[in-house]
Amino acid sequence: MFNRSRRNFAHWFTLSMGSILILFAGMVYYQWAVVRLEESDRLLYRKARIMAANVYYDPRQGEESIDLDNVPILGNYSLPLGNEITYARWYSTGGQLRQFYGTPVPAKLQTTAAFETIQTAPQWLRQITLPVQQGGQTIGYLQVAVPLTDAQAALREVLLVFVLAVPLTLGAIALVGWYLGGRAMHPIRESYLQLQRFTSDASHELRAPVAAILSNAQVGLMSPIDQGQPKHKRLENIAETAKRMNTLVNNLLFLARQAGRIDPVSIQPIDLNTLLKEMIDFPSIQAMAQHLTLHLELPEEKVIVNGNADLLRQAVVNLIANACKYTSANGKVWLRLIDRDYDVLIQVEDTGVGIPQSDLPHIFDRFYRVNQERTRETGGSGLGLAIAKQIVEAHGGRLAVTSQVGQGSLFQMELLPS
Ligand code: ADP
Repeated sequence: MFNRSRRNFAHWFTLSMGSILILFAGMVYYQWAVVRLEESDRLLYRKARIMAANVYYDPRQGEESIDLDNVPILGNYSLPLGNEITYARWYSTGGQLRQFYGTPVPAKLQTTAAFETIQTAPQWLRQITLPVQQGGQTIGYLQVAVPLTDAQAALREVLLVFVLAVPLTLGAIALVGWYLGGRAMHPIRESYLQLQRFTSDASHELRAPVAAILSNAQVGLMSPIDQGQPKHKRLENIAETAKRMNTLVNNLLFLARQAGRIDPVSIQPIDLNTLLKEMIDFPSIQAMAQHLTLHLELPEEKVIVNGNADLLRQAVVNLIANACKYTSANGKVWLRLIDRDYDVLIQVEDTGVGIPQSDLPHIFDRFYRVNQERTRETGGSGLGLAIAKQIVEAHGGRLAVTSQVGQGSLFQMELLPS
């Protein structure tokens, strides 16, 4: 699937860039041809003007007096005007041929257009027809043609360069397209794999409690009605498993719905000193921390941040819950609030089991658990830290961790001050 998308990307990239390249090459070629033609027209016009300047005409005697003997190329006693003129012709005002040099020779003037390209074999000619005027009146037409050999050769060369360069450039574009396609596909492939992993983990996590609920219910139903005690135990198990499933589904829904955004309406200034002080007294936190000592360290001055109080509370609760879960009896957990000039820190430090260095980069991934067996006992599903991270990042902050196996962990939320 990804290779096909990559191929498609490279294909369309080459097609679009190739079209632009060919269009550009065509325009350059056309412009080059126009410039060459204008250059050769200027030269031809200059030659025709020199020839016309040598026509002798006496106005009193009219057209009969026209003498072309001194006209270069055409005249008998004239000097040659370069040797690239293919033909030169003199026509009367009525269009009759009077004198000529070179072939072919139409007897009548066929065109009055100034410049014309004559497509003869083996080479094309560029022809000028110049009305020659003296004393304010036209005395005849001078027609001169030169071969377009130089211009044609130059254009052929340019065409050859294009014919070789365009396919080579297209090949390079295709390679670049393929490379860029690979780079563009990389994050998509990553998120696709992540999504796939997430879906399979989520279904795996949901399957186990559902199976437990089912088996408990079935066994509970099998026990005789008068033996109420075991049945009650079974039903308690069902309720416990259903509760865990409910938490899991709620966490999954939270992650899916929150998706890195906070409703701007819910953002308010939060007094963190009060929030943390109240939180530490929650019965649920007290219950979690009953086997250890929980310290709260707050600065004297008020620390205010802008955010959603419920979400931030949830993030801190997740960190404290983990610290309590992974710290053995008589251990210590600190909840600290530190106000720095440029940010605000909420730290949760414990003297618990710690996290191996190799696991630290993955610790915030959804469903990631350091030690499946260890966390199965503690009932974790691997979503607590992912949720905390998502909340902190949605507030424009950062969640970082440092840990030493056997010594403890320090989770630190870095928030922007208000
Ligand atoms: P869980 O619900 O399994 O605790 P989390 O996302 O909260 O999921 O944590 C992911 C994993 O990180 C846990 O399984 C645990 O192994 C490890 N972990 C998190 N916090 C701590 C901590 N304070 N001390 C030791 N390990 C921790």
